[in-house]
Amino acid sequence: MQQRYDAIIVGAGMAGIYAVYHLRKLGLSIKLFEAGSSVGGTWYWNRYPGARVDIESMEYSYAFSDELQQEWQWSERYAGQAELSRYFEFVTDRFDLRRDMQFNTRVSSARFDEDTAEWIVHTSDGASHRARYCVMTTGLLSAPNKPEIPGLESFKGPVYHTGLWPKEKVDFSGQRVGVIGTGSSAVQAIPLIAAEARHLTVFQRTPGYAVPLRNHPMPAEYQHKVKANYAEWRHKERYESFGGWVSVHYEPVPLMTQMALDVSDEERRALYEDRWQSGGLALYNVYPDVYVNREANDTLAEFVREKIRARVNDPATAALLTPNFPILMKRLIADTNYYETYNRDNVSLVDISKQAIETITPNGVKANGQEYECDSLVLATGYDAMTGALTRMDITGRGGVKLTDHWAQRARTYLGMMCAGFPNFFIIDAVGSPSVVFQPIFVSEEQLNWVGECIQHLDANQQRTIEARAEAEDAWGEECERALQATLFPTTNSWYVGANIEGKSHKGLIYLGGMAEYRRWFHEETARGYPGFVLTSGVREGAAA
Ligand code: NAP
Repeated sequence: MQQRYDAIIVGAGMAGIYAVYHLRKLGLSIKLFEAGSSVGGTWYWNRYPGARVDIESMEYSYAFSDELQQEWQWSERYAGQAELSRYFEFVTDRFDLRRDMQFNTRVSSARFDEDTAEWIVHTSDGASHRARYCVMTTGLLSAPNKPEIPGLESFKGPVYHTGLWPKEKVDFSGQRVGVIGTGSSAVQAIPLIAAEARHLTVFQRTPGYAVPLRNHPMPAEYQHKVKANYAEWRHKERYESFGGWVSVHYEPVPLMTQMALDVSDEERRALYEDRWQSGGLALYNVYPDVYVNREANDTLAEFVREKIRARVNDPATAALLTPNFPILMKRLIADTNYYETYNRDNVSLVDISKQAIETITPNGVKANGQEYECDSLVLATGYDAMTGALTRMDITGRGGVKLTDHWAQRARTYLGMMCAGFPNFFIIDAVGSPSVVFQPIFVSEEQLNWVGECIQHLDANQQRTIEARAEAEDAWGEECERALQATLFPTTNSWYVGANIEGKSHKGLIYLGGMAEYRRWFHEETARGYPGFVLTSGVREGAAA
């Protein structure tokens, strides 16, 4: 017997938790399936040493409930993985959401049944379920990228991926450890692994720009100040910021309008130094021309490059760690003692930029003609971002069309939320949305509020299904592309533009028009009666009259 729900939600990360809260509040019967044993998504799986958020805790949190905002106390400026996990557990239990969640259950397939206009969802426990709506809160950085390095299977020690870290502590003491990759995950893990291991060898293909996070215990007066004015802070974060955060030196700082090339070298440097001293992602709030003009971008890139050189004792190692591409176009990395780690005697850096790793042997890694012996390997090799969680599932829409075929040329969505031929199938915080460059909790709250409105509209108007029009998908792809091409983002290889996965198209992957503009787009759709969507008639069973 198949269980029937109004909505099936897939994934209990930050978006899935809010989806259960919000859709239940609208009176829908819901079921959420989650592969892990509890909630938290990225903060459930990423237990590697040093995993920590790089947006301030006061800003990286839900805004939907003021009671919640007031009750929860953050202990650090930037919460670590354990505290974030506790936060998501707390939210889930505070709103009694767990009773609609089934854990340790992976969704293997979802197929649209055209006769009943329902989704049939199969799960790893062998069961199948039916639902009018599918809400995919599967995460934008949740499908680990495990590179095909020859010989990897032959390695005789343990191999860890940062995005699938074991629950038990991994003890590296006395070991020779190899880390492959130098993105945000590696940069957080490397200093802690180095402090424990006998020797750490880092295999670097491309250096990143890392800036000090400057984490410390949460100042009580700051927490109090934000809580006293949370609505105002949230408004600024949402609509008056680049990425959903506004705090610089614990004050909300508006976006700048002055251009880097219009001010003196001294004035520019003083601003960069101020942001640098504030820590973390404050360096995103600088002159807007750094995003669009290579010369302006170079002023900031060179400032950070100088800082990197000053932190590394050996000039040859410093040179290898210094990037030469535009800054901010790949996610800025926030570090704690990363560069200083290369001043330790037990750490070595291997440049694999000119020649890829030749092979993994049973005893280590062979690169540049030399074998580096390792007892354990850490793959900090990132994710098939934005699309991977969905393309790794077997999803079939109208006419038996697979999502992987629909996306074969490029990942097509309208407004980053719906696809043509996939009725009542909502995608949250993923491809075609601002989530990758914006505080993702905000984006998911906004998107899910829109999904709720949309479902209410269908019920109120006796409509059965909604899906994107193919021409609206095309237009959205062009809109994403237009915003992307106006910046320096396409000049840099990163997961933002799909460059880390062979054959992935960048078109339509991210929306860079800003949250206010994004919100305007989908509210206009609602106000104008969903012109970018096809709606079909028919009453939903059990819908309120
Ligand atoms: P990532 O930024 O994609 O970095 C992956 C690293 O692995 C890169 O250095 C990449 O080199 C390397 N790599 C991939 N395949 C390789 C291969 N075959 N051989 C050698 N090297 C290879 O992934 P990530 O570090 O997991 O971070 C992903 C995103 O997650 C971040 O950008 C950020 O948005 C988020 N994140 C945030 C935090 C935080 O501070 N809160 C922490 C972790 C992650 P190339 O650069 O040459 O491709």
